[in-house]
This record gives sequence, C-alpha cells and structure tokens, in this order.
Amino acid sequence: MKLTQLPQQQRLPFSPARHHDHFELELPGAWKPSGNSVLAKYWWGQTRNERKIHWINWGKLCTPKNRGGVGFRNIHAFNLAMLAKQAWRLIHGTHSLFYRVYKARYFPTCSFMEAHLGSNPSYVWRSLLSARELLQEGSVWKIGDGSSVGIQNHKWLPHPPTFHAGMDLTLRMADFINPQTKQWDRGKVNAQFQPPFRDMVMRVHWGNLESRDTLVWNENKAQMFSVRTAYQVALRMNQTGSAKHSRVHEDKRIWSIPPKVRNFMWQASSDILPTHANLARRRVPTDPKCAVCGLSDETALHILWQCLLARNVWALVRGKLQKCDSSARTFFCLAQTLKEKLSRKELEMWAMVAWSIWNAQNRLYFEASQTSPHAILKSAKTLLEDYQRLTRSMPRN
Ligand SMILES: [Zn+2]
Repeated sequence: MKLTQLPQQQRLPFSPARHHDHFELELPGAWKPSGNSVLAKYWWGQTRNERKIHWINWGKLCTPKNRGGVGFRNIHAFNLAMLAKQAWRLIHGTHSLFYRVYKARYFPTCSFMEAHLGSNPSYVWRSLLSARELLQEGSVWKIGDGSSVGIQNHKWLPHPPTFHAGMDLTLRMADFINPQTKQWDRGKVNAQFQPPFRDMVMRVHWGNLESRDTLVWNENKAQMFSVRTAYQVALRMNQTGSAKHSRVHEDKRIWSIPPKVRNFMWQASSDILPTHANLARRRVPTDPKCAVCGLSDETALHILWQCLLARNVWALVRGKLQKCDSSARTFFCLAQTLKEKLSRKELEMWAMVAWSIWNAQNRLYFEASQTSPHAILKSAKTLLEDYQRLTRSMPRN
C-alpha cells in the first residue's frame, strides 16, 4: 500500500521522547513557558486530580550539562528518580493520606513492593510501579522478624543466591529461624542454599525479632533515600541495561540492542511514549487519533504494530513473526506474547524495527518526510548489525 503525504499537523511545540536524539539541545527561550508546562505535565504526571505529584525544578533540567544542569539525555533517569521518591513514600510514609489512598486502591493485602498493576491502573500508579525496580536496585532489606522477606524475590544478600533444584522458593526468611536459639537454623539453610551462599546467609545478622523487616536505602552512609542518589542508580541501571534483581534477568535472553532502543521498548511497554493518545490523556490539547490513518487512537500498540505504515513494514519481516497473532490489547501484552514465540535474534530485530517505525512516524509528523517500508526495515537492520559488530569487538572484562 502506498503512503500518502500528510498535511503538516498542529503539533506540540516540543515533544520530549520524539526528539530524543536532540536532548542535548537547549530549548529556545521563546518555547519555554508553554512548552515547559506541557512537558512538565506530561513527564511528571501532574494533573488536576493528582497535583501532589509535582516534582522537578524544570529550569535545572533545561540547563545544559556544561553549565551544571543534567542535560536532556538523562531526563528519563531523572524522571525515574523523582518517581522513586514518591514510591519510597508508599513504603515508609505509612501515615500519609497519599499512602492510605494508594494502599486501599492498589495493594490492600500486600506491600507496595509486592503490588501488581491491576486492572484499570491510573497513569500515576503505573508510573510509580515503573520506579519500583530502581528502589529494588538501590535498597536492601534489614531483617527484623523475617516475615516479610521472601528468600528469592527480595534483596537481602549482596548477591542473588542460588538454590538447590526443586526447593520451595516462596519461603520467607522467618522459615529459616531456629525458634530456640533465635538464630539461623543451619540444617534448613544447608538444605535450601547452594554451598557458596550458605556462609553468606549465615553471616546475615538477625535483628530484633520483635520488629518488622524494613527496606533501607543502600546508596549512602545515612541510609536515607535521596533523589540525587536515586538518579545515580537510574543512570547505572541505564548503563547496565537492567538491575541485578530485576525480572529482566529472570528472562535469560539478554537482548543485544542499543541502550536507546532498549529504553524505547521499555517506554512503549510501560505505555509512557508520548503518543497522541497518551498526550491527550495527559490533557495536552491534541487529537488522540492516529495522524497517519485516522482510524484509531494513536497508542503505542497502534503506531508500532497495527497502523498501516507499521503493517507495511512488518509484512516485509520474514520468519515466525508473520504467524504471530496480532490481537494483543496493549503493546505490553504484545511484547509478552512475542517473547514466548520468537527467538532472541528475532526479538532483537522486532525491537529495532519498532524503533525504526517510531522514527519514521516522527519524520512524517515533524518534517513531512516519508520513509518507505523497505527503507525503514533496512535502517533497523543496519543499526542492529553495526551495534552488534561494535559490541563484539569491545574488550570484555
Ligand atoms: Zn494509524
């Protein structure tokens, strides 16, 4: 199908992730008042009803790095650090109204760290959960009675332990205490943990058994959460691609794709790409409909998978992808389905093509310049090959 030239749309003066590669640019002064408030609303999730979440000194963020600002490249890390600050309050600020409202609605029977997204999550809740991985990475459990700390899915050792095959991974630390001595039960520890971890476990100090387990921030001496240290954790996670204890590691296939593409996929899966549908949801005055086909709201799933432009590109990709059912309701669901069905190589290519489609859509919006489906696919392939060649040739340590 041939693409038709679109009229130049009325767009935002500046749209953050769409201009991701140009984040180092300083905003022209004339754009600042309107553009910034629109951006601030979008990025920091501030709406009329959720005004409490308003976080950042925007001027500081806009200052280029060489003048002491953070530079736009790190805007995502900053966003996460700010979100983490609010998420931390859902762990420790248990007397606040903020806590009680979210607790009642989203995690009435468990802690924030164990909460699920749930059906019909608000934008803020979804954002808060996205910051949870950062909290996991930057904190450690201080053991009280051991009843809240799961041996597998909580971070309580310097390294994630390995277990004997077939062991019950749902056990809590409290299951390993000897009720008489109030210390570790060595027999139970030996039965569960593999040898290199047994001593490490036995060295973990049992605190006051009358007290509750607490999550403490592990990134400064004072063990006090700060946005500055959270920001450093976010940068670190960005560099390593994922946190040590993250679910990404449970999925053993670590993708070899450029970090910016990984970040893009994360944004698409978390439904925080600045698509028209998301901008409209953030009360940015814009038409939520897709500007290419006008048939549907411009969600991540639509623009990257269902829209005509996207379909034309996917039709050119060979392999199992052609047989994959496209009835997913969100981009996240689609990603989950494809992870089951595709090989690692195919998934990498899938991510690259999605990224390439997104860029082509943006060129269409912002520069009224069309890219053919063949060219979109080719640029994805070239970028992936270049990246993988480069990373292969880098020395390993
Ligand atoms: Zn469309």
